[in-house]
Amino acid sequence: MAEKILRPVWRSFTEKFLGNAAEWVRSGGCAVVWRPAKGGPAAWLLLPLDDEGGVDAMPEAAYWAMLAVYLEKYKRIARGHAKGLATVRVARAYEHEVEHWCERDSKYPTSTRELELDCMTCAACCINNRVVLDDEDLARLEGKDRPDLVKKPYIRTEKGVKLLALDKGTGACVHLNGTLCGIYERRPDNCRWFPAGTEPCLISRRDEFGWVD
Ligand code: SF4
Ligand code: SF4
Repeated sequence: MAEKILRPVWRSFTEKFLGNAAEWVRSGGCAVVWRPAKGGPAAWLLLPLDDEGGVDAMPEAAYWAMLAVYLEKYKRIARGHAKGLATVRVARAYEHEVEHWCERDSKYPTSTRELELDCMTCAACCINNRVVLDDEDLARLEGKDRPDLVKKPYIRTEKGVKLLALDKGTGACVHLNGTLCGIYERRPDNCRWFPAGTEPCLISRRDEFGWVD
């Protein structure tokens, strides 16, 4: 069943317009601020934070956008136009990705956008993925009746880390059946928690099917 999701809209700003960027983020969007740096302007994310702080201070969509470009830590801005917001520099290798988010969203006039996603007819995130399995996942997969699920051909190992195996031809998870999970009740935590409508989801849909949300 399709789910309605409200996601932040991305905008690109130069540092001169930091005040506008902060206003955009406070109204629900996310921003990339280009600041002077050695080798040319560098991309910094400007993201919302609530006033409380703590581990859940950042909304899920913003946090997963950071993860999508391999960032985990941010700094809370202490003064100026963007006081109280989060910022973090994007590695040069991922600047093209955040630029793409801004280009994709340039047609949306407001700072948030509603979209409908139906995981039951998508499964993009079940293709060419990297689902790491911990002991709890392995125990749930195996249960009392399927010791085969924690061995080849269902599991692959990379540098000692256990992962769900992918079909060598299609790149799909070996448990994917059409667009449905063949082990839904036993699926690993990383599959359960993958949040629809965040940037990693939108990246999967774009990279696997060319869909732009
Ligand atoms: S890519 Fe997104 S919409 Fe598609 S199945 Fe995964 S979470 Fe759902
Ligand atoms: S276990 Fe299920 S939800 Fe997880 S990647 Fe495979 S098919 Fe998708």
